[in-house]
Amino acid sequence: MSTAVSIAAIGAAQIWAGVLIALVVFGVGVSVLYGLPLAMRWVQVRRWKRIKGKLALTYDDGPDEVTTPALLELLGELGVPATFYLVGFRGEKNREILESLKASPHELGTHTHWHKNAWKKSPWFSYSDAMHGYESLSVAVEPGDAFRPPFGKTTMITLIGMWLKGRMVHWWTVAANDTRDSFDEPEKVAKQMLDDGETVVLMHCHHNESHRRAYVLDLTRALVTQARARGIELVTMGGLEGDKR
Ligand SMILES: [Zn+2]
Repeated sequence: MSTAVSIAAIGAAQIWAGVLIALVVFGVGVSVLYGLPLAMRWVQVRRWKRIKGKLALTYDDGPDEVTTPALLELLGELGVPATFYLVGFRGEKNREILESLKASPHELGTHTHWHKNAWKKSPWFSYSDAMHGYESLSVAVEPGDAFRPPFGKTTMITLIGMWLKGRMVHWWTVAANDTRDSFDEPEKVAKQMLDDGETVVLMHCHHNESHRRAYVLDLTRALVTQARARGIELVTMGGLEGDKR
């Protein structure tokens, strides 16, 4: 082999080694950035599903001007505390509802300002959107209140940012799928959730569509009625963790 050929071979080997190292670094980076939050979510859900005798009703994406007030009225009638993860831009549009949430016995948290999927935006946008939610909802939400990522998707940058400010990040154990167009009977859905030992139910409180709004209200009533019949205590997320009502 000539000297020129062997130098070229060494050069090619170095390029491939560089590519390999870059791919490994990229893979590790992606795993840490996106995969680690998924693992943490899995651990949290497993921990919550081991809790017995408690049920937390949670409502995302509000406040709106129709469904949120209807839900507040129903929860008041039922005498049940719940947890609301609010979206900043809707809070700004519905300031009166935000203030009535603040005055209510319910627990509040944030759900970003613009409600974007963190996996479809840059990590920096998602981080600043999550922080922005605390500013735009500051009329009702305290700096230490919990954060729930939209669509359950987040990155380590946002998680670390939340932890540095002493904020919990909450997911859920079961989704009611109330953003779909057709639903099973609310009584049947509630029974299945309780049979499965679910402890954190995700619903939404921003529906413009009357059939979705009706489903959320009916499912809420069914869950409360059936949980009480089974001796299950209805709690906020703080209550589920054992440090609040
Ligand atoms: Zn949401």
